[in-house]
Amino acid sequence: GKGAALITAVARRHNASKHQCDESCWTPALLHHGEPLLIKRFRKELVTGLGRDTNTTATLKMLPTFVRSIPDGSEKGDFIALDLGGSNFRILRVKVSHEKKQTVQMESEIYDTPEDIIHGTGARLFDHVAECLGNFMEKHNIKDKKLPVGFTFSFPCQQTKLDEGFLITWTKRFKASGVEGMDVVQLLNKAIKKRGADIMAVVNDTVGTMMTCGFDDQRCEVGIIIGTGTNACYMEELRHIDLVEGDEGRMCVNTEWGAFGDDGRLEDIRTEFDREIDRGSLNPGSQLFEKMVSGMYMGELVRLILVKMAREGLLFEGRITPELLTKGKIETKHVSAIEKSKEGLIKAREILNKLGLEPSADDCIAVQHVCAIVSFRSASLVAATLAGILMRLKENKGASRLRTTVGIDGSLYKMHPQYARRLHKTVRRLVPDCDVRFLLSESGSGKGAAMVTAVAYRLAEQSRQ
Ligand code: BGC
Ligand code: MG
Repeated sequence: GKGAALITAVARRHNASKHQCDESCWTPALLHHGEPLLIKRFRKELVTGLGRDTNTTATLKMLPTFVRSIPDGSEKGDFIALDLGGSNFRILRVKVSHEKKQTVQMESEIYDTPEDIIHGTGARLFDHVAECLGNFMEKHNIKDKKLPVGFTFSFPCQQTKLDEGFLITWTKRFKASGVEGMDVVQLLNKAIKKRGADIMAVVNDTVGTMMTCGFDDQRCEVGIIIGTGTNACYMEELRHIDLVEGDEGRMCVNTEWGAFGDDGRLEDIRTEFDREIDRGSLNPGSQLFEKMVSGMYMGELVRLILVKMAREGLLFEGRITPELLTKGKIETKHVSAIEKSKEGLIKAREILNKLGLEPSADDCIAVQHVCAIVSFRSASLVAATLAGILMRLKENKGASRLRTTVGIDGSLYKMHPQYARRLHKTVRRLVPDCDVRFLLSESGSGKGAAMVTAVAYRLAEQSRQ
């Protein structure tokens, strides 16, 4: 099937030429004919997810976020932002002041989230978060300050207001018990009450990223994460969001595009390797698009392909070591290292040596090709879904050209040496009638979470008066 085709492609290229991998390495046929099929499919799913009668069974959850605009420059105050669910658990203090110009000051710490905590009980997980928060407040001398807290929680949540978020399902590495179906704001508030902190808003990391970038660029209306997981949000017309009252203006919608394909709609492009990844995951059958794209799975995809190639005698003279057969032994950071333009081949040898292998020069080149194919596929898939969102924004505005900014964050996008360039290029090819600016969120989603918190705080103060 497709898996064999992947391998054949690698082997063929490997024999035919030794030059750098380019787009033709993995040219998804789906990206090339007419309005590319994959974009069409994705756009249809966007509409299904927004519809009142179709939302409950849609693969794209299209979650309303109750964020109505990007920062307008009037936000101010002193906030704490918690960021849980990405590759790091971070706590930040964000001070937004207004002397002539809006300025932001930030301090942050990273905390561990050990395996036994993210797979233990929810109570323990939130106690851990509260403990880290206590530690942070102590260290930064703000123990008695009662600062409002914004919570970036990088999982799908059902919201009916800013300070509420019912976890629909865990994704990625998380699986703490007793949290699904619960309001994470309440759970966390219970744990942090004794520290005098109060959660004012919960936002998805895509929303935090869009808001962070929106602070610097008013045109920003899309937020994307390509990290441990993948997802996107964008500003949708309220009249198209059936689940929320009102017709005027816009609201940010969290697409949860990681679940694209969970209804079987990507079966024609999933490979045997994708199926194996899914079978061995914490959430089989879910987040199928995410599993083809994101950093949590990319290294493992490469490993599975190498095992098969070695078995077929295409690599390492058919030798296989126990390390090569061990799940998790090739990580996405290794893929990034192997694809570096100068030292890539040396890195490939080092990494393969650590797996007990003795690769030939040709083996190293082939392994580099495999990495390029897998990461290029990821970038192409994201390019297609992002193109779908951009086309929708353009249509919503009834404009002949769209000029817009996409805020992006995530470890894969930031660390992989070729990823960003390939993604940008493919998007521009797919939507030639859009002028897209890609803006890296330098500070993650913390600043954005603080912006949302500022708005929530102002609203809460108003209603108290
Ligand atoms: C989650 C999203 C999140 C994304 C990136 C996915 O697994 O479902 O909510 O935005 O990862 O962190
Ligand atoms: Mg993150």
